[in-house]
Amino acid sequence: MSLLKSSSVITIAVSLFVLSACGQKAADDSQGNMAKEGATSGTGVTATAIINADDTPGEWLSHGRTYSEQRFSPLSRVNRDNVAELGLAWAFDFGVSRGIEATPIVSDGVMYVTSSWNIVNAINAKTGDLVWRHDPKVDKSRAAFMCCDIVNRGVAIWGDKVYTGTIDGRLIAIDVSTGKAAWDVNTIDKSEPYSITGAPRVVKGKVIIGNGGAEFGVRGYVSAYDAESGEMLWRFHTVPGNPENGFESEAMKMAAATWTGEWWTAGGGGTAWDSMAYDPELDLLYIGVGNGAPWNQNLRSPDGGDNLFLSSIVALRPDTGEYVWHYQTTPGDTWDFTATQHMILADLEVDGTQRKVIMQAPKNGFFYVVDRETGELLSAKNYVPVNWATHVDLETGRPVEVAGARWPGKPPYLQMPGPLGGHNWHPMSYSPDTGLVYIPAQEAPFAYGDDPEYLYKEGMWNTGANMALAALPTDEATFAAVKAMLKGRILAWDPVKQEAAWSFEHQGPWNGGILSTAGDLVFQGSADAHFAAYDAANGEQLWSFFSQTGIVAAPISYEINGEQYVAVASGWGGSYALAYGGVAPTGSEAGVGRVLTFKLGAKETLPGVSAIPARIPKPPAQTAPPETVAAGLGAYMRYCVTCHGDHAVSSGILPDLRRSAYLQSQESWDAVVRRGALSDRGMGNFGKFVDAEAAAAIRAYVIGQARMAVEDGDATAN
Ligand code: CA
Repeated sequence: MSLLKSSSVITIAVSLFVLSACGQKAADDSQGNMAKEGATSGTGVTATAIINADDTPGEWLSHGRTYSEQRFSPLSRVNRDNVAELGLAWAFDFGVSRGIEATPIVSDGVMYVTSSWNIVNAINAKTGDLVWRHDPKVDKSRAAFMCCDIVNRGVAIWGDKVYTGTIDGRLIAIDVSTGKAAWDVNTIDKSEPYSITGAPRVVKGKVIIGNGGAEFGVRGYVSAYDAESGEMLWRFHTVPGNPENGFESEAMKMAAATWTGEWWTAGGGGTAWDSMAYDPELDLLYIGVGNGAPWNQNLRSPDGGDNLFLSSIVALRPDTGEYVWHYQTTPGDTWDFTATQHMILADLEVDGTQRKVIMQAPKNGFFYVVDRETGELLSAKNYVPVNWATHVDLETGRPVEVAGARWPGKPPYLQMPGPLGGHNWHPMSYSPDTGLVYIPAQEAPFAYGDDPEYLYKEGMWNTGANMALAALPTDEATFAAVKAMLKGRILAWDPVKQEAAWSFEHQGPWNGGILSTAGDLVFQGSADAHFAAYDAANGEQLWSFFSQTGIVAAPISYEINGEQYVAVASGWGGSYALAYGGVAPTGSEAGVGRVLTFKLGAKETLPGVSAIPARIPKPPAQTAPPETVAAGLGAYMRYCVTCHGDHAVSSGILPDLRRSAYLQSQESWDAVVRRGALSDRGMGNFGKFVDAEAAAAIRAYVIGQARMAVEDGDATAN
């Protein structure tokens, strides 16, 4: 019996795709780039403009608004006294239904924001009208190399260009006035499963970009490109390569001494796929480094070692990419404990002394305050329940691990946090007014265990962990107990006292990034399809809007003609949404990505949604024996679950395999799974990895899931 019900699927009415009179703007469906008359663009955004961003508080010029990445808006026209009058000013339809993680950039009345498949939209920030749209026409077959949905976290702007990274590893400069590419460079070896999901930053005329792919087995790095010409200026690798090939720098030589075995064969990992910050005074660029590849340290560096610079904050010279210092949050990572989470720079009084700090709440569950001049750890405290380490030793700067937590070769146990982290990529916010850091925190325990059949497969998911242990239980009582452990909240954290000031509990994990403002407000969207404002001092919810789809991206605020706007990109997606969408709060099935923009007194509405019952076509007969179905479950958890969902229950973002027409015959199933019939829509060709027997077993398992859903009355058979 399946407990993962999808009984209340909400489907957007057809009218949604039509331009309506209620402030709804739709992206033009025509392919390619198009310029439209309307808002002006092209502002000459430079270092001076970003460094002095507080002189132009009405703009949002950089990913975290400022190089300090505080995501605090000094605007206060919208405040705790009048926020109840906030209403929808305009909505812009991306015309796509996949996850949206982008932070918009606003400069000179134009908003630049990315949607799935790396489409860049320039929108009139006052009216929501499309100015231009740039489709880089990414190679969609590379979606098979995306661990966590085909997402993108936004653009950077500098001079007369907008910069964006793509899932197929390109960095593109777009002319702000025409929407046409000025240059387009490849940042990766295309024979390796690299990708880009992060937003570039531009520092001193250099566009900085990292990449993703550590789940598949790559070697991470960040690179700098000349903003004008696209010429590559430097590259800093985050983990060492094969010593026989020589080291790129002294830093790589130092790092190699902390690795054992032949780590380079699976890349080593350490992808810097998201966070960066810059301190112009110290002239230091900070990058957050990801997990090891494979996760399982025994398979990566068999005699242990810290494995630098995995799970570290690394400070670099932006002119040269030269290493300055590092702080490693999780030495010898074996849990997918990235330190790619959002980093915030602030000046705090610590033990009576004013310190320049960098703050991070990485996946491992500890909140770190580090001196950003030297990398010295000042304090660390767990911000969510943690059972893999007792505390962080301030003398050594290292976590004190619990016996048995280093799981390879040991019996699995339910660990907190797991690979989803106590906090994932969703941006935090720091308010200098309240002195609090607002964290989109979560609890999602995970049982790590050895993969008995692990064999490195180039271009495939290579974690060395038994992903079958990640399946949610199907017996009712255990399932209810596990579901009750899945939690999410806004956590207002005092970084000086290292304790919670307040928290607001959501229905589960994977809620949106956060904005705080001088109006004493905190804004956040949530998995249950709401966008809300909270009192920054005590967490009281003051205003809320039903967004029809879950929100994971972070909001921004800007001002035009004396009116303050608050905007957020909506669109449920990302790793938790794909893998565990079946247990997420309702509302997220209305899969349409938009920009939602609010101002005081506005009264626009979104087109209605109509609830229709989920329908599963009559599933084929189950002709396979139970042992084949069991083998199919194993193969499903190895190859399919991270995109198509636990128990083959989709959250509506990707096709629900139980409803797939291709399930009807083994021949059509094989055409998709083993011969790549849908690779131009993002479904990878698994022919290299899944043989005919395994494909048939996976199909038998999915048929079983479809038949159970029909029998349970979760859906109606035709
Ligand atoms: Ca990872």
